[in-house]
Amino acid sequence: MPNRQTFVIVGASLAGGRAAQALRREGFDGRVVLIGAEPDPPYERPPLSKEYLRGDMPREKIFLATAETYREQEIELRLGTHATAIDPREHAVGLEGGERIAYDKLLLATGGRPRRLGAPGNDLDGIYYLRTVADCERIAQELLPGRRLAVIGAGFIGAEVAATARGMGLEVQVLEMAPVPLARALGEELGRIYAEIHRDHGVQLHTGEAIERFEGSGRVERVVGSSGRTIDCNFVVVGVGIEPATELAQAAGLEVGNGIMVNELCETSAADVYAAGDVANFHHPLLGTRLRVEHWSNAQNQGVAAAKNMLGRREAYADIPWFWSDQYGLNMQYVGHATRWDEIALRGDVAARSFTAFYIEGGRLQAALAVNRHRDIRPSRELIRSGAPVKPDMLSNEETDLKSLAPQTA
Ligand SMILES: Cc1cc2nc3c(=O)[nH]c(=O)nc-3n(C[C@H](O)[C@H](O)[C@H](O)COP(=O)(O)OP(=O)(O)OC[C@H]3O[C@@H](n4cnc5c(N)ncnc54)[C@H](O)[C@@H]3O)c2cc1C
Repeated sequence: MPNRQTFVIVGASLAGGRAAQALRREGFDGRVVLIGAEPDPPYERPPLSKEYLRGDMPREKIFLATAETYREQEIELRLGTHATAIDPREHAVGLEGGERIAYDKLLLATGGRPRRLGAPGNDLDGIYYLRTVADCERIAQELLPGRRLAVIGAGFIGAEVAATARGMGLEVQVLEMAPVPLARALGEELGRIYAEIHRDHGVQLHTGEAIERFEGSGRVERVVGSSGRTIDCNFVVVGVGIEPATELAQAAGLEVGNGIMVNELCETSAADVYAAGDVANFHHPLLGTRLRVEHWSNAQNQGVAAAKNMLGRREAYADIPWFWSDQYGLNMQYVGHATRWDEIALRGDVAARSFTAFYIEGGRLQAALAVNRHRDIRPSRELIRSGAPVKPDMLSNEETDLKSLAPQTA
């Protein structure tokens, strides 16, 4: 009888969890070992700044699967366990405590962790970062009506926490270094609209303002900004981005840059070692560029793609990036990847908060942002994928059927 193969996955979250399930779905009958530093089985992070944070979702709903499902699928969960080293030559993973697990194939799905501020006072109590369910549950305890929250950073985490807290009756002030919120993802023009949305909902938004220091005795009492502005608060949530968790890969000599470098088959520079999700910096065959995506659909779908390639399927991962964010009952969806553009065409009604923004460069659609207009996302994805030339006025014109603009595939 041939030896059973062992596939090891480090990182028991969305990418790792979906990869493990996909291995079984695709018929892999060897050992699957899923190693996770957190005590919980794989769960979804998006509710942690939204429904779960505000108490609108029961805890059991955040998990990808029940413990029983893992047992049935013979996925060995090693939770609360840090992988401390990988040895690509010996094909082994070292765990804290000294155990070594030999692998035939290894997937690194180690994700990211919040970037920490180095500002004076940052070790005071009452300053929170949000990545894990444990972080979320600590913050949730602070979310009581009338309390004052200072949010540092108006990226997606900061903007969503601000919206959730306002919805629960807290006083919220946001400090953001850039001129507008969500600037990195959406650009200034659309970020300005989100600034209005937050202000309309009573958030005091201070842009162009960096954090200088935190003050308080034992516990944070105020935040001082770079302009000297002082914000009194009961607690702080910091959302200033994440850093990819590359340390295992780096120590093992794998190619690492902004993330673990992989090709379109999710293969790293070491034989039989793959990476997927927030930690993976991959070459996108359609967009013709390297990307590291920090969003749910990428983690889920690239995890599945990595699993298939671990099984030798050799399928290029070429999903067009897509994400959503919910703030104040407004649903934002973004498809594509635009880092620069010549023009933004708007369709719909910005004032009524029902519109789509099309990011155009060189006469081609790079990305689309739909606010409360999810129906525009699918045809936009097809347009981006096709690379068909577009005219801004046609995109803006509600009479134009977006579906008619992409060349029809047989
Ligand atoms: C609060 C919040 C809200 C979000 N909302 C949205 C949203 O609305 N829309 C959207 O598109 N995306 C959203 N995201 C992003 C999305 O959740 C991430 O893209 C996704 O979780 C990435 O999954 P991952 O498996 O690649 O990495 P992660 O989720 O970061 O998981 C990596 C796991 O690996 C573990 N690990 C790391 N190193 C080791 C080690 N050495 N040994 C063992 N385990 C290790 C970590 O503990 C962690 O559990 C949100 C994220 C957060 C935090």
